[in-house]
Amino acid sequence: MDKLIITVAPTGSVPTRQMTPHVPITPREIIQEGIRCQEAGAAVIHIHARNPEDESPSPDYGIFEEIYQGLKEKTDLILQISTGGRAGVTYELRSERLKLGPEMASLTTGSVNFPTSIYENSPQLIDALAKDMQTYGVKPEMEIFDTAMINNALGLLDRDLAVPPLHFDFVMGLKGAIPATIENLVHLKSNIQPDATWTVAGMGPAQLIMGAHAILMGGHVRVGLEDNLYYCRGEKATNPQLVERMVRVAHEMGREVASPDEARRILHLPEPDG
Ligand code: ZN
Repeated sequence: MDKLIITVAPTGSVPTRQMTPHVPITPREIIQEGIRCQEAGAAVIHIHARNPEDESPSPDYGIFEEIYQGLKEKTDLILQISTGGRAGVTYELRSERLKLGPEMASLTTGSVNFPTSIYENSPQLIDALAKDMQTYGVKPEMEIFDTAMINNALGLLDRDLAVPPLHFDFVMGLKGAIPATIENLVHLKSNIQPDATWTVAGMGPAQLIMGAHAILMGGHVRVGLEDNLYYCRGEKATNPQLVERMVRVAHEMGREVASPDEARRILHLPEPDG
């Protein structure tokens, strides 16, 4: 079994300082959090940008650039930029940040009905973002909110808009996405190719439960405040705490944790410069 890749998603689009004092918002805070999470055992960081004035999600290229450069300079983490966009954010704005040339970026291969909004990813938008990722040498992480999105990702291979082996992230337990059950996790994994790699992002309490199963199943795990604000019932978590816990769970189960360079090899990323 490969070593375990731990991705940290420290910020996301939703958590605010009012919801938890521990969420990093500004570029400086996100960079500091990246350093701490690498020390704790993370190999990948999934990046969102926020407007420092009001904490709202920001598509601003300059903010992404500041976070990207800082993390690149101060950590060895694999940088994975989110191309997610709230309704109304255009293809141009979602694609622009790929010009930074991060090693990875997220690519959601379908639309989702959230409780009060549509997370819209049209076939044309998915193809265009996939093509841009090829142009800038960015490996996509296919964000899978439901089983059909796996088929959409496989379709990209047929149209030469992605190259195997693919890497998937199963987003489970979000309202509107596939429920976070073990049966569903096994089902999702059974739908991807044998050479594909995968990670799981369980929402809320499912973060630990799905992560523990992924460790046993040979998958990888994503933790962090983007998906889960609590360490346990009633106790707010910090990002490094969530990473540290997953390291401990992995060790107890006899699975070693991958360094960023080991993760690069497992994910078939090009060797870093030098
Ligand atoms: Zn995200």
